Amino acid sequence: MKIKEVHVFAHDLPVKNGPYTMGGVKVYALDTTIVKVVIDNGLIGWGETCPLGTTYQPQHAKGARAALDEMAQGLIGADPLQPVALRRRMDGLLNGHRYAKAAVDMAAYDIMGKQFGMRVADLLGGAVTERVPSYYALGIGEPDEVARIAAERVAEGYPRLQIKIGGRPVEIDIAVVRKVWERVGDRVRLAADANRSLTARDTLRLSRECLDVPLILEQPCNTFEEIKAIRNQLHHAVYLDENTEDLSAVIRAIGEGVCDGFGMKVTRIGGLHAMATVRDLCEARSMPHTCDDGWGGDILAAACVQIGATVSPRLNEGVWIAAPYIEGHYDEKNGVSIEEGHIRLPSGPGLGVVPQESCFGSPVASYG
Ligand SMILES: [Mg+2]
Repeated sequence: MKIKEVHVFAHDLPVKNGPYTMGGVKVYALDTTIVKVVIDNGLIGWGETCPLGTTYQPQHAKGARAALDEMAQGLIGADPLQPVALRRRMDGLLNGHRYAKAAVDMAAYDIMGKQFGMRVADLLGGAVTERVPSYYALGIGEPDEVARIAAERVAEGYPRLQIKIGGRPVEIDIAVVRKVWERVGDRVRLAADANRSLTARDTLRLSRECLDVPLILEQPCNTFEEIKAIRNQLHHAVYLDENTEDLSAVIRAIGEGVCDGFGMKVTRIGGLHAMATVRDLCEARSMPHTCDDGWGGDILAAACVQIGATVSPRLNEGVWIAAPYIEGHYDEKNGVSIEEGHIRLPSGPGLGVVPQESCFGSPVASYG
């Protein structure tokens, strides 16, 4: 089997009741990039990558499309059934830019599943659940309001809540954490995610003043080094997210004992194949992790759910998808959504979603 054509689409995903605020960034619409890969036997695979704006990470939407432009012609003739060879071929065409390569990797798994009549979860080792846990990210807000929303989400069935913190005086963050804990703490697992925005000083204070709250501190500070410096003074488990840009960073974090788990993004790490490696490394050291992405539509959500379904239940911190925040679906019938805090694993072969191509307009670039 050989790749015959690659098409790249740019698509604006509108944020429902926007803007959504995270770590000081206001998000109104998401510039997502869709990849359609056509094989010589006629099968089609879909991939997606959707960086969150231009300041959240080094990745950005135009960068994804430029990287795909650099690689796509060189991928014609590659075998999508050989994900490792495909990844090496992409690395031979362009250094880095894993988030763009992830969309191609995803499309290859979609094709593989369709070719063999298997779900991607089963290709990646086997689904251990048909109902993948999600978690809800509580946006930056005032203590009473955040606690009210937290109670609603717990009533809906979410097994885990992530409280967004940072970008304001830390005493407000502390008040939010304490309020949410008082309201729902006995019924749900809690994380506080600063998305890199706290100083070491404020992280230490928050941990000290929330001593009795069994909380995960997710990516409190900007750098690996800041977190490493205060790690032994914290009273809470620490997960890394944004600092784990590649597998080498994951291995370093595990090896140096800098964290207890990860908020892991499928596209940032390089796609489903790399994410399965993270899963296996984490399992070897009993480290919990999520399988999410920054944002994105049904294709990216399906990819996250497929890998999320393969994570050992005791280590599964859930799959966050953007579906509750965006308008509409690419696939009206099989679109990925959250029900009672969980996501049903799509049943069809491959990623299990069949996007309506008309959603995306004309390709911005085609190769083949
Ligand atoms: Mg995070």
